[in-house]
Amino acid sequence: MKSFEFTVTHRDSGTKARTGILRTVHGDVETPVFMPVGTLGTVKGLTQEALEDLGAQIILANTYHLYLRPGEQVIREMGGLHRFMSWERPILTDSGGYQVFSLAALRKVSDQGVRFRSHLDGSLHMLTPARAIEIQTSLGSDIIMPLDECTEFPSSAVTAEKAMQRTTEWAAESKRFWCELSQQGENAPGTLFGIVQGGTQAELRRECARRLVEMDFPGYAIGGLSVGEVRPLTFEMVAAAEEYLPEEKPRYVMGVGLPEELPQYVALGVDMMDCVLPTRNGRNGLLFTSQGRMHIRQTRYARDPRPVDESCGCPGCRRYSRAYLRHLFIAGEMLGKILNTAHNIYFYLDTMRRIRQSIASGDFPRFSLDFRSRLQGEVQ
Ligand SMILES: [Zn+2]
Repeated sequence: MKSFEFTVTHRDSGTKARTGILRTVHGDVETPVFMPVGTLGTVKGLTQEALEDLGAQIILANTYHLYLRPGEQVIREMGGLHRFMSWERPILTDSGGYQVFSLAALRKVSDQGVRFRSHLDGSLHMLTPARAIEIQTSLGSDIIMPLDECTEFPSSAVTAEKAMQRTTEWAAESKRFWCELSQQGENAPGTLFGIVQGGTQAELRRECARRLVEMDFPGYAIGGLSVGEVRPLTFEMVAAAEEYLPEEKPRYVMGVGLPEELPQYVALGVDMMDCVLPTRNGRNGLLFTSQGRMHIRQTRYARDPRPVDESCGCPGCRRYSRAYLRHLFIAGEMLGKILNTAHNIYFYLDTMRRIRQSIASGDFPRFSLDFRSRLQGEVQ
């Protein structure tokens, strides 16, 4: 294993929120952290320079997509994903499992792994727990995820239980394989997290967490959430898993959330999150601001000289008006998508920065309440 360490630095007295530092070979990450999603080795619309300037500490890349295109071999030959995409800060990769289950055609799951056809050219592939780790090691990722079985929402308790059992068995196999590879010095894999599954059944979540913790992973992810269930149920599942997760290890909830939900996950003891909402919505002209949501296409912004968010420090808000951004959006200009994406990513990163500060200064509950009340709804 490459060197990895997690230290909790402050705790909120009223909730489970905490700040911490993740140390990786590519640098330190202050937590709680939001990780922009760089599916194909790019956070859509943003250069790596822009990401650095916006304050991204760590990004996420998708194993399934990079494995199919350009292929792990190309990336390995180019010196790993960091060098290939010219990003020197940490990278977390998913296992590819989620995309196999959501994108690939003709997938067939067995105890060995999942056989599937590429959504690009129909070619046949097999992803096993060991292969998922090998591919992520070729990419040179800092934090890697084991293959897990993702179920559709809604799933019956029986389906969720089967998937949880298989995920747990695959986790054990992944851990064994990862321990073997970790002896290999320079080509050692990144830090392996366990993934808690269990659908929307609290008891399954608890059992999965308990069994993963027995295997002793360096960190834990909670997966399969925010897939269509009502939000209180998501929080309940996170809380159910969290009860069993050791305090000294980092927790990562995969694929969440809306800005106003970020403090709520943090309050449940979550240290890491990722989500496509800021980038995807940015491209569609939906902006997150400190006063609520803004649909930049609306006619009322046609002659509005103000920035999107007067309290935002992003490059777009320092220089351009709502009227200009609306014009770019209506005209379908790519600069509009770029500026909108940068604003939304900055908003998420800045929110996490303010959450960290509020935890450190003992002001987190008040910050959280105030932030959420201002964010709900649309800009007036
Ligand atoms: Zn902005």
